[in-house]
Amino acid sequence: MDVYGLVGNPVGHSVSPPMHEAAYDELGMDASYVAFEPAVNEIRQAFVGAETLGIEGLNVTIPFKEDVAAIVDADELAAEIGAVNTVDFREDGPPRGYNTDAAGVKRAFDHHDVDLEGRSAVVVGAGGAGRAAAFALTDAGAEIHIANRTVDRAIGLASELSSASGGSLETLDSQIGDASVLVNTTSVGMESDETPVPAELLHEDLTVLDAVYSPIETRLLRAASEVGARTIDGAWMLLYQGVEAFEQWTGRNAPVDAMNDALRAALNAE
Ligand code: NAP
Repeated sequence: MDVYGLVGNPVGHSVSPPMHEAAYDELGMDASYVAFEPAVNEIRQAFVGAETLGIEGLNVTIPFKEDVAAIVDADELAAEIGAVNTVDFREDGPPRGYNTDAAGVKRAFDHHDVDLEGRSAVVVGAGGAGRAAAFALTDAGAEIHIANRTVDRAIGLASELSSASGGSLETLDSQIGDASVLVNTTSVGMESDETPVPAELLHEDLTVLDAVYSPIETRLLRAASEVGARTIDGAWMLLYQGVEAFEQWTGRNAPVDAMNDALRAALNAE
């Protein structure tokens, strides 16, 4: 049996196991996906153990994505983002690291037929998900503004990209009016009825992606729907980062519908 999994701390509520196992069931694969929770200072030992035991691949989540980028052979995009969320142990040599959160953002927009080329986009947040979104949108040809609570992080991230600017959350006032894409990558709205973007700034010409997936319909997405904006919930990004990881590991096309059904069932059961 092939073993895949997730390392994070905590991982108790992860919906990745049912999403990936649905793919194995759908394709009749002899494989299993396990959530592992190493102590926060033991990720290196966990990786030695994973390699020794013949684990095929691991996803990586909070708080290990940056640490893992430094201990695996990260591809160019993951190295630029500075975070790895997918590790492939199957080749000889050091494990290879990828960032499929960026593909998750791009493929979530693709799924909804949103062409990002030439679009003006605002990214709220400059943490791990913010960096992945900023690189994904830039690679897809969008011009972006990054707004973050800690201004230096927004400005620093913008300076790493072409066609990007950065500023405080107050800059949302002047930036959202002319934008056609808005991506929330802050954790605001997760398990709480809050939004990082004042509702009065939203307008009907926006497509709004919220990276937060718990709840699936955040306050930001509700407010966006109310003004007639298009919404893409965080489960789409979560789905496509998993689809991308599955395809990286197996070289097969992922059964997207089966993975989506299992993911949404698991999120709704929370
Ligand atoms: P992170 O690296 O810790 O970054 C957190 C971000 O949120 C930072 O920009 C931080 O601003 C901002 N923030 C936190 N509390 C805030 C507040 N009260 N007001 C304003 N800004 C605040 O976390 P992450 O890994 O990027 O994850 C962020 C969110 O994205 C989480 O909800 C996570 O579940 C979600 N996510 C979803 C997916 C998906 O596939 N859908 C993938 C990855 C992450 P400062 O820089 O000022 O601290």
